[in-house]
Amino acid sequence: MKICFFGGTFNPVHNGHIRLLENASKHFAFDKIIVIPTNIPPHKEVIFSVSDDDRLTMCKLAFDGMAEVSDYEIRENTISYTINTIHHFKEIYPDDEFYFLMGSDMLFMFEKWKNYKELISLISIVVASREDDEMSSVEKKKLELEEDGAKIYIIKAEPYVVSSSLIRDKIKSGEKDFSCYLPERVVEYILEKKLYLE
Ligand code: ATP
Repeated sequence: MKICFFGGTFNPVHNGHIRLLENASKHFAFDKIIVIPTNIPPHKEVIFSVSDDDRLTMCKLAFDGMAEVSDYEIRENTISYTINTIHHFKEIYPDDEFYFLMGSDMLFMFEKWKNYKELISLISIVVASREDDEMSSVEKKKLELEEDGAKIYIIKAEPYVVSSSLIRDKIKSGEKDFSCYLPERVVEYILEKKLYLE
């Protein structure tokens, strides 16, 4: 079975995440997709202004019918190192092929991930550009990491330039057009629960 893992802070989940997963799914016939919201991300300074349950619920609304949403990292309640998460899922799915989905910003810093050489022996990376005109940098990084044995697939799709931080900033400053970057059900949830206003 081909299993795709997609980790992130998802604070909030947005159409860039969904587009990434849709494009990856078009290229690979994944048998299972598991979205994993992080607890404490090792590579980002984050103070969450919404609860873990809110992030989980928004992911469930956004990926309904596309993916399972796992609360594993949140339940672990510690720094979310992908290597530990992958070990956990290897115990459940010992004979299956693991793919890990990410945007280019994560690929560029991938050597900094904990036990990265072991990690690349356990997963294949599926990556897409986040910015315009960065494909040559992504390809260069792919070659560098392949020298260490990584297996990397680049999704060649038009980047969809949006980030959770942009959306949080827009909500806080009262810009209504934030809703075009999010699935409708996530917009409704954010408005109903008055999230990201401060
Ligand atoms: P923030 O702005 O808060 O740093 P973010 O938008 O980068 O958040 P994350 O939840 O941290 O979102 O990202 C999870 C994964 O999704 C990462 O691998 C990231 O590179 C990828 N990703 C996020 N947004 C996009 C996008 N617009 N296009 C492609 N990949 C994306």
